Amino acid sequence: MAAAAENSVIIVATRNQGKVREFAHALEPLGKPVKSMYDYPQVPEIVEDGTTFAENARKKAKTAGDLLGQPVLADDSGLCVDKLGGDPGVYSARYAGEGASDEDNNRKLLAELEKQQQGEDTEQPLLSTARFVCHLALYDPATGEFTEATGTVEGWITSEPAGGGGFGYDPLFYMPEYEKTLAELTLEEKQAVSHRGAALRELSAKLNAAARH
Ligand code: IMP
Repeated sequence: MAAAAENSVIIVATRNQGKVREFAHALEPLGKPVKSMYDYPQVPEIVEDGTTFAENARKKAKTAGDLLGQPVLADDSGLCVDKLGGDPGVYSARYAGEGASDEDNNRKLLAELEKQQQGEDTEQPLLSTARFVCHLALYDPATGEFTEATGTVEGWITSEPAGGGGFGYDPLFYMPEYEKTLAELTLEEKQAVSHRGAALRELSAKLNAAARH
């Protein structure tokens, strides 16, 4: 990741511990410590008022990058559930309200899907098709330029949560091809299939191509 790798650290504009863990693991081969907003308390909480993942990711990267005077990578991501018209989408982190925990959000998601299913055959645990989306924006304050990438992963929302890994909605996100939820995968396995892993691979390819020119 050329622009970020020129510096001695890689700064990710997040205070989400699950994301920090995944970025630290994925970017380990670059041999530079991954820092998050926990390391830069002077960067205030950034209001995510965009209507798209891309808008929010750009806002987070630019706000933190301009304040710190260094390249910053931001991730805006979320879960889009087909039977809920794409919700919770950009509101995934606060679906059950401001400050909601992952457990609160998971409970709310299942409750909303149960409302939709009323009158339907609810015997089977797979409630709706869904996808995770991750938009990455790397902003360099020296040039004012963004490098961006998007990744998605398709699956189903299950009424039978499983697994203790990952974070957020992972225990409810079932992938039939692996017969597992995302929370049942190791960090390595999740990175290979996830929206964040896909976006990171695309971003890395773009940065490598730019570095060759
Ligand atoms: P953001 O900080 O606004 O991007 O919020 C992302 C939210 O989307 C998280 O708080 C989770 O609820 C959800 N989310 C994003 N990526 C994942 C993932 O990899 N697994 C589970 N939930 C995720």
